[in-house]
Amino acid sequence: IQTILLKKRPKGKPTLSDFEFLKEEKDLSVQEGEILLEATYISVDPYLRGRMSDAKSYIPPFEIGKPITSGVVAKVIASKNDKFKQGDYVSGMMDWKTQQVSKGEGLLKINKDLAPLSAYLGILGMTGLTAYCGLTQIGKPQAGETLVVSGAAGAVGSVVGQIGKILGLYVVGIAGTDEKVAMLTSDFGFDHAINYNTTEDMGTALKTACPDGIDIYFDNVGGPISDAVLFNINKFARMIICGAISVYNNTEIPKSISVQPFLVKNSALMQGFIVSNYSEKFPEAMKQLSTWLAEDKLTYTETTVEGFENTPQAFLDLFEGKNKGKMIVKV
Ligand code: NDP
Repeated sequence: IQTILLKKRPKGKPTLSDFEFLKEEKDLSVQEGEILLEATYISVDPYLRGRMSDAKSYIPPFEIGKPITSGVVAKVIASKNDKFKQGDYVSGMMDWKTQQVSKGEGLLKINKDLAPLSAYLGILGMTGLTAYCGLTQIGKPQAGETLVVSGAAGAVGSVVGQIGKILGLYVVGIAGTDEKVAMLTSDFGFDHAINYNTTEDMGTALKTACPDGIDIYFDNVGGPISDAVLFNINKFARMIICGAISVYNNTEIPKSISVQPFLVKNSALMQGFIVSNYSEKFPEAMKQLSTWLAEDKLTYTETTVEGFENTPQAFLDLFEGKNKGKMIVKV
């Protein structure tokens, strides 16, 4: 059995030396009410960076010397629990372990005939729900409006933009490479996309890309990209603050422009959110996302890293933009 533990709290950008590998030669057995799980796919996500630090947050920090946990798809390989049988697949929060015993609490049985197993960590999992709930509940989109999405070629962003198109919005994406920008318009149907790494003046680029101004901003990155958006928002704009990956590794408080004047003069809304606060919407969201997938109105891409031992590196690669769509580890 292999386990990946948090060795120390990263300072700035995390490195492989912040993780520790443990290998044990033992057979796990199950007691009454328990199941034995074998990890199939592991989700690596930017928010895990927050849990590696001990700053106060909406979710407790990982403990030093304890396994990292994230979304995992696993196969039930032994069961003494009536709700699960051998051969079932489940998804839920689990340790970064090749095998583990669980009581089944918080695990969801998933159907591999409805969608590929990895999709339950992405478009039919946390990131798909984040895209749907954030855009519909806070963005309150109206057909004809302009939506800008940052981190647009990632797991959340690529779904946000596509939902925007389905709902009749004009959609502009921001991403970090020419290849990603091309993918946004060719594969995901965005109207326009901007490479923030090769664009000198994002404010002007956004102004050109959004001739009617910006009504909705779905923010995955924060920092200067989001400052540039503020210069182009319309009256009653809604800014959905989903994440701020550009500052997650900062060691000092970032210098940012003052948002208040922009909010005041545009009567604009800026709202942070955590997807788990919208759990009452999940059944509706899952139904809608699966329907759009079945109708080919929605598509998705994944970057798959092979091998359990490469899980930490896959996580680090998120901060280098190495993924297109959802970053997944195939165990
Ligand atoms: P992504 O699949 O978008 O992967 C991260 C991407 O971020 C990279 O591919 C990279 O793309 C981009 N990126 C990395 N560093 C920077 C930087 N310095 N500036 C700008 N972009 C950068 O991850 P997710 O879709 O899983 O998550 C997206 C965001 O949503 C994150 O901020 C995450 O924390 C947040 N989130 C929030 C949730 C909530 O409940 N609020 C739930 C899930 C996610 P590129 O090449 O374009 O730079």
